[in-house]
Amino acid sequence: MIRLKKSYLARKGIAEIKPYIPGKPVQEVKREFGLVDVIKLASNENPLGPSPIAVDAIKAALHEIHWYPDGECFELKKALSDFLDVPSDHLVFANGAEEIITLIAKAFINEGDPCVVPRDVYDPYETVVRIMGGSIRHSDLREFRIDLQDMLQKVDENTKVVFICNPVNPTGTIVTRQAFEKFLRNIPERTLVVLDEAYFDFVSSKDYPDGIDYVRQGKNLIVLRTFSKVYGLGGLRIGYAVAEPELIFYLKQVKEPFNVNTLAQVAAAAALKDRDHVKKTVDLIIEEKDFLYKELNSMGVRFIPSEANFILIDVGMDSRVLFRRMLERGVITRPGDIWNLPRFIRLTIGTRDQNIHFLDVFSEIRASRRP
Ligand SMILES: *Cc1c(COP(=O)(O)O)cnc(C)c1O
Repeated sequence: MIRLKKSYLARKGIAEIKPYIPGKPVQEVKREFGLVDVIKLASNENPLGPSPIAVDAIKAALHEIHWYPDGECFELKKALSDFLDVPSDHLVFANGAEEIITLIAKAFINEGDPCVVPRDVYDPYETVVRIMGGSIRHSDLREFRIDLQDMLQKVDENTKVVFICNPVNPTGTIVTRQAFEKFLRNIPERTLVVLDEAYFDFVSSKDYPDGIDYVRQGKNLIVLRTFSKVYGLGGLRIGYAVAEPELIFYLKQVKEPFNVNTLAQVAAAAALKDRDHVKKTVDLIIEEKDFLYKELNSMGVRFIPSEANFILIDVGMDSRVLFRRMLERGVITRPGDIWNLPRFIRLTIGTRDQNIHFLDVFSEIRASRRP
């Protein structure tokens, strides 16, 4: 930790922001432990990599990178508008869905504005509210689920923004269509709902609400999606928001003119067309999820059934200890203590080989822990 001697310079609340702890990069673990083979199952990336068509599109665009990117993402917006069947004026792109979260805060949150955030989930919601000086009301998860009833109780006429993550990172559970519709019926008209659907494509439950349906109904709702997960483009940084044009207008007012780089734009447009790659990815995740469930069950290990491409696993020991031991063996996972789940790890579902490797290392560490 550095000593803060210049806090008089920083805006209010900046010093108190909890630093984001990312999944450890493969190269760092190789350096630290002198390992050659390292697998990363920590950041919910696509185990099949990017779409090969997207990679070709990047190669073809490489000689154009002396031009500034198209700030409107015209071609990509057209492609996505067709794909989602929403008008172009309902879309805005950003440098990852994370940047959309920042834009929402910049555009809508005044100092002191109350915002409701689920506790111990994906950090950026809370971070951006704090940066803008908003005030946070937490809603606790209940049985690893976002409790919309409780969230409603934390909302009043002055609540500016409510953040919902569906499926929720890190537990992988969803709020159902019925629960979400009831929530929308009861939320004050002036409150903005942000619905983060980063894992939309992985969900197989029939009870899962598609946020865009409610944008079409004209709700005060911004839906977030990303090209980082199922599309395998996390390293390029591109995500988007779907909302009614006036809300999009406010987001654009605070966005940097060239926030999405050229390569991200062409890759995203190509990836969108590569339905084969998306299907292969989703099929793999569903198959491997079943495999992991079966194996974990037979080991007597508890986990939270997930609608996303990761599983929260109750490892029955200090997750920091397990995390360290797994790192030494070249397997990167995410320890749950950062979400106040000290006995859990969050495992990104990998290929069959990666999953087997994880299970082998996990079993050995569990076995050696016993007297
Ligand atoms: C990964 C993730 C995102 C998207 O991040 P990008 O900035 O688009 O890479 C957004 N929300 C949640 C909950 C996520 O897990």
